[in-house]
Amino acid sequence: MSDEGKTPPEGDPRKMLEEEILADHPRLGPEDKFKFRCHPGVPCFNTCCADVNIFLSPYDVLRLTDRLGISSTEFLETYTLLPVQKDMNTPVVLLKMQDNEEKSCHFLTDEGCGVYSDRPWPCRMYPVGLATSRDTEDGWRGERFYFLLKEDACQGHNEGKKDGLEWTVQEWMDDQNVDAYDEWGEAFKELSLHRFFDDYGPLPPSKMEMFFNATYDLQKFREFVFGSSLLDRFEVDEDFIHQMQTSNEALLRFGFLWIRFAVFGESTMKVRAEAEQAVKDKLDKKQDSEDSGTPTSPQKEAP
Ligand code: SF4
Ligand code: SF4
Repeated sequence: MSDEGKTPPEGDPRKMLEEEILADHPRLGPEDKFKFRCHPGVPCFNTCCADVNIFLSPYDVLRLTDRLGISSTEFLETYTLLPVQKDMNTPVVLLKMQDNEEKSCHFLTDEGCGVYSDRPWPCRMYPVGLATSRDTEDGWRGERFYFLLKEDACQGHNEGKKDGLEWTVQEWMDDQNVDAYDEWGEAFKELSLHRFFDDYGPLPPSKMEMFFNATYDLQKFREFVFGSSLLDRFEVDEDFIHQMQTSNEALLRFGFLWIRFAVFGESTMKVRAEAEQAVKDKLDKKQDSEDSGTPTSPQKEAP
């Protein structure tokens, strides 16, 4: 479990947290070792799953919604907080705690985490954290390093693995099954630290909403993809469309491509030749009408 600062700081809380970490924590590599074991026998068992700020990635939300069998819209409304800060480039999604005295996590049970195999990335990684410095030519792919969170109340640091040995950071990550989370986390970092933001600053509200839906609120994004003419206008592989109909993971993959196209202007989507021709015909017709002085009826712009 992770307590990443109980009061979200001003500005983008993720950036503030990374800066704090870079300043305060010794950096660890994959082969560095540490001692830790969390199990129902520790006196502090379950105490840390309360009153914590846990940032959720799109993949965390996807795993939890699939696990709970509810829509992303319902999950986001019920289980998350969406703090808005003025210089935030991309949405921030925090796991909401219960409104009880302990402010405990909604998924906490007497036996421990009730969504254990789908618990969010920070809960998996604890007590190991990950930070990326962003000081290289190619932006976010700065030095990636780990650090150890050591809170006085956490007694897991007094114990080793079952056999009493230490973990390496890599062994810990393998044990916690973070591979898919890491892969999606890196892809999301590419979006949230995109150079577009250096050049153009934060997104306007309509684009921010598009970004949020295509990454976090897959229910709304699904309605957009299958309830609009989008798939008629762009070339999308039939097998991929079929996968998107049944899999939120495929839909999220498409969402990332869509953001790159619709928000950052990258060529990740190809307009169908017929759609391109239709737009061209419409523009030609408009031009002809203007040349002849005949007014045209207002047309809806393609997003
Ligand atoms: S999701 Fe599970 S591990 Fe994470 S805070 Fe909630 S109960 Fe604890
Ligand atoms: S050992 Fe640490 S992580 Fe485990 S329950 Fe105690 S405080 Fe939480």
